[in-house]
Amino acid sequence: MNNRLHVLFRGSLTSCNYGCHYCPFALRRETVEEQRQDRAGLQAFVDWIKAQEHREWGILFTPWGEALVRSWYREAMVELSHLPHVSRVACQTNLSCSLKWLRNANRKALALWVSFHPTQCTLERFVNRIKRLTDDGIRLSVGAVGIREHFGLLEELRNALPSEIYFWINAHKSDGQSYTEDEVKFLKGLDPLVEWNLHRYPSLGEGCHAGETSFTVDGRGDMRRCHFIDSVVGNIADKGWEAALRERKCSNDTCGCHIGYVNLKKLGLSRTYGEGLLERIPVDRSPPPTPAVRKYLTRSKDS
Ligand code: SF4
Ligand code: SF4
Repeated sequence: MNNRLHVLFRGSLTSCNYGCHYCPFALRRETVEEQRQDRAGLQAFVDWIKAQEHREWGILFTPWGEALVRSWYREAMVELSHLPHVSRVACQTNLSCSLKWLRNANRKALALWVSFHPTQCTLERFVNRIKRLTDDGIRLSVGAVGIREHFGLLEELRNALPSEIYFWINAHKSDGQSYTEDEVKFLKGLDPLVEWNLHRYPSLGEGCHAGETSFTVDGRGDMRRCHFIDSVVGNIADKGWEAALRERKCSNDTCGCHIGYVNLKKLGLSRTYGEGLLERIPVDRSPPPTPAVRKYLTRSKDS
């Protein structure tokens, strides 16, 4: 078994300081007790990672809401980034938090997956904050949901960002309207990989790294293979937690979210993203599709 494991942590936090109209966590506030529980779950996870020195770890925080406005998530990121057996600790964030704490982090291990929310933050403020981080040597990807009404602003953002930053677009799939060919062409000009995110990949019975070398942990320490299959496979407090990780076939019909399908073995995306897999930074900023992705894209066009 590979010595490196990826773990996606999603604790009990379900709140955000932003108010995106489509989001269930928008402007939701937690009670003091809910915050205490979230903090305790995160601390137990951090303590557990500290003790797992026999493995190399890549960690991605995928909160339901915004985690980095909470001091305990910022402190956890800093602490984990300095552990010699943690090669990457990344977090999905709207970047509304203070930025000062990042100076205490180990820049070799820490990374951010930053989302722009055009209705919640001006482009100028967002770009200035990204530039502060890149000047400070913080590793990050930046992106947004490809909502039609925001196309102009997304183009402005891409052009305003330092060119070395990888800019991703999440296809807007929830309204059920697919993009026109011209719209796809436009989006590919912003994110050369956007086409890979337009589809749900058939996954039933397919081999997947999720559950083998990648897994999720919640605030109770329960392990699942990924965020999209709800059955619990173990708990990190179990002595034999590693026995929960083994070769598995996907039990869902399709997989359509980036943090899921990057694990599908047939797509070969671990090579495309390499060391940047967790924070969504491809090795080459405009890579050709892997043979499996190319076949799938061709089939989609033909159908
Ligand atoms: S920033 Fe993200 S989590 Fe917060 S309200 Fe918007 S979509 Fe939801
Ligand atoms: S293909 Fe997607 S849904 Fe299936 S196991 Fe892998 S990550 Fe989970």
